Amino acid sequence: MHPFVYTKASDTRQALAAGRDGGRYLAGGTTLVDLMRETVERPRTLVDISALPLREVTVTGRGGLRVGALVRMAEAAAHPKVRALHPVMSQALELSASAQLRNMATIGGNIMQRTRCAYFRDVTADCNKRDPGSGCAALHGHHRAHAILGTSDSCVATHPSDVAVAFAALEATVHLLGPTGERAVPFTDFLLRPGSTPHREQALRQGELITSVEIPAYPRPLRSGYLKVRDRQSYEFALTSAAVALHIRGGVIREAKVAAGGVGTVPWKLPAVERHLIGQRPSPAL
Ligand SMILES: Cc1cc2nc3c(=O)[nH]c(=O)nc-3n(C[C@H](O)[C@H](O)[C@H](O)COP(=O)(O)OP(=O)(O)OC[C@H]3O[C@@H](n4cnc5c(N)ncnc54)[C@H](O)[C@@H]3O)c2cc1C
Ligand code: SF4
Repeated sequence: MHPFVYTKASDTRQALAAGRDGGRYLAGGTTLVDLMRETVERPRTLVDISALPLREVTVTGRGGLRVGALVRMAEAAAHPKVRALHPVMSQALELSASAQLRNMATIGGNIMQRTRCAYFRDVTADCNKRDPGSGCAALHGHHRAHAILGTSDSCVATHPSDVAVAFAALEATVHLLGPTGERAVPFTDFLLRPGSTPHREQALRQGELITSVEIPAYPRPLRSGYLKVRDRQSYEFALTSAAVALHIRGGVIREAKVAAGGVGTVPWKLPAVERHLIGQRPSPAL
């Protein structure tokens, strides 16, 4: 591990000042600290944001949900409003990582987590994401769990988050606070495809902090679920997954929200599948 300075922000103003000066935010620390131990990440300053007041789950408008960036994965999964309104989010979280990790890890940290590509985590391998311009060892190497959608000649790594797949399906918005104020980014624009710059992974500006993720209010109630296929039944990332939310009336699908995980460089929204489902009766074949 490389030497670094640790500082704890007691309010957002302090956090933003440190972030603007190049400090790296630390939430639950469950993935950033690992990457620092492996010297994949070498931040010079860590800004602990765990004391910031970003731990609320609130209902907005008529059934929208706003989840603070520092809400723990376990808290979000168990929250009665999350379970009632969007079981797909709850299920995606419960099928992630392990109980210990979910008790520590946050929603903001989860969507910011970096790929599990083994070459990215091996500092002796060529990896454009870790070391821009060095090449991509996965292109001709071991890539069974890599992406087939949204890839480029520079990188074929998947985004590993499960709850991000639910956020993409439900057309969530990411709320950000930065040195120049607040802004909101549609979730499907927040995580970036690799293109020729795979080291740029999110639409975040220098020093910006995620404050919350918001799922919009849907006029028609959705029933939803998350299906995850993986090499073993727990403590494993998705080989593929699907987040599906449907409004069914009179036995017919009237509205559909669908995204796939594990197969794309970002969670993969499937508008053609959504259009195909609408107007049909659910059946095993469909
Ligand atoms: C063994 C193992 C198995 C796992 N399995 C799964 C799985 O199956 N599915 C899954 O989805 N995840 C899985 N994970 C990943 C786990 O969910 C993440 O480690 C966790 O969600 C990260 O959250 P954190 O709060 O600890 O983030 P941290 O480690 O604190 O931070 C991660 C990144 O997010 C940035 N960050 C954090 N909060 C903010 C913020 N508010 N604004 C801006 N930047 C921020 C940090 O700077 C850092 O770059 C697994 C992890 C491990 C170690
Ligand atoms: S797939 Fe991406 S993360 Fe993996 S080695 Fe290639 S550039 Fe690096």
